[in-house]
Amino acid sequence: MTDYPELIEHYIGGRRVPSLDGSAVDVLEPVRNTPYTRVAAGKAADVAEAVAAARQAYESGPWPSMRTRERAVILNRIADAIEARGARIAEMEAHDTGLPITQARGQAARAAENFRFFADVIVASGDEAYSVPGSQLNYVTRKPIGVAGLITPWNTPFMLETWKLAPALASGCTLVLKPAEWSPLSASALPDIMEEAGVPAGVFNIVHGIGEEAGAALVEHPDVPIISFTGETTTGKIIMRSAAEHLKTLSMELGGKSPVLVFADADLDAALDSAVFGIFSLNGERCTAGSRILVERSVYEEFTARLAERADKVRVGLPGDPATEVGALIHPEHHARVLDYVRIGTGEGARLVAGGVVPGELAGGNFLRPTVFADVTPQMRIFNEEIFGPVVCVTPFDTEEEAVALANATRYGLAGYVWTGDLKRGHRVAGAVESGMLWLNSHNVRDLRTPFGGIKASGLGREGGRHSIDLYTEPKIVHVALGDTHVPRFGA
Ligand code: NAD
Repeated sequence: MTDYPELIEHYIGGRRVPSLDGSAVDVLEPVRNTPYTRVAAGKAADVAEAVAAARQAYESGPWPSMRTRERAVILNRIADAIEARGARIAEMEAHDTGLPITQARGQAARAAENFRFFADVIVASGDEAYSVPGSQLNYVTRKPIGVAGLITPWNTPFMLETWKLAPALASGCTLVLKPAEWSPLSASALPDIMEEAGVPAGVFNIVHGIGEEAGAALVEHPDVPIISFTGETTTGKIIMRSAAEHLKTLSMELGGKSPVLVFADADLDAALDSAVFGIFSLNGERCTAGSRILVERSVYEEFTARLAERADKVRVGLPGDPATEVGALIHPEHHARVLDYVRIGTGEGARLVAGGVVPGELAGGNFLRPTVFADVTPQMRIFNEEIFGPVVCVTPFDTEEEAVALANATRYGLAGYVWTGDLKRGHRVAGAVESGMLWLNSHNVRDLRTPFGGIKASGLGREGGRHSIDLYTEPKIVHVALGDTHVPRFGA
């Protein structure tokens, strides 16, 4: 299927519109890096229109005051509309981002699940009340925070957009979404989905464009009290500085360099499957990718050799081919950055044991053979910096203490993975690894009720289940005297 729009427009107040100044930028597909469509490049004026539409819908529209059950019905309809278009959304995502089609299908299904899940969460959430018998009543109400600004990255864009849209809408917020400029295609399906589901005009708005222009304008806008951002740590810092001006509520889902700790007593076959999947699925463009594998020295050589052998067998190919396991990286600029890290790793003296090359038959696109560096030390840049591609570092350790110290030796703290047959040690190490999330003898499965997010340079705040609802609502305490008030009588 190749019937893509010629121009991906903004969606403001229920209308698809070009940029006010007419500007747009090319969008590339990553297999040949040819421009195949254009996306409107919004500026501050476009953002102002979208925020005004969202504010109008918030202040005078039914959405924030609607009963949660009614909003939940609409959220479920959004999920139905996504499911009805699941194959098309996956195909768009694979074409636009280079994600293998089988994995893109999984992400489209998860996007629908995001709406079903938050429909249930919002119905189950209620106001809280506490009373002291006979004298006082305290109750807490939660009000939607207002116009939410949602800024999202290019990796699994549709899924990550819906991960913010679903709870923001469930909470009664109206919103402006700023998708990533490298991957705008799947978001162009959202206006039809929202209209079909009955979301009132103005509740859901999209402004496309360059981060430093459209994204920055959204962060700076005084009528947007919350920014939920997923992206790079450096961008997160810029947003924090700018948001400080208005003391905005912030949620930051940022980068990672997550360790996988493999002890000699682990189920090494399972650890290997998890390590391979954890770094090479989603093209390695996954925030929770296990990109540093720390292996106990007695099994280090064997594990590294098996990892390299498996990496060599991973099927790199066209994103639309169902047999493909690793597709094309998002953009030639990102491809060049990842290739640069391959050169940096080699230059730093790490031992390249798999990959590191662009497959000849796919030259011209953003492809890279799954890459494994062994003997990586904590002094090397490839150990410390997020590469965000199919590149993994392997480092040996001798003791549990050393394993934990290595795990914690980067500025990031998003996820961690521990493999051991010793349950006591497993829990000990799970507690000691500095990360927001940790999988013990397990890999990357999620319960959407749990708080997703990181510590250190990996983020601020958590999203998931009631944590997302807390983010998009403000609590208010009301205190009522049920009997005599006993106020100290100043001046009496
Ligand atoms: P990025 O920071 O370059 O861009 C993310 C979004 O921010 C884009 O929409 C971009 O246009 C916008 N943006 C850029 N500059 C801006 C500015 N000055 N003001 C406002 N908005 C601005 O990130 P990316 O390269 O698109 O995404 C990859 C990164 O995202 C990786 O670091 C990855 O780890 C991270 N990520 C984290 C999570 C998580 O949950 N922790 C999930 C996915 C991705």
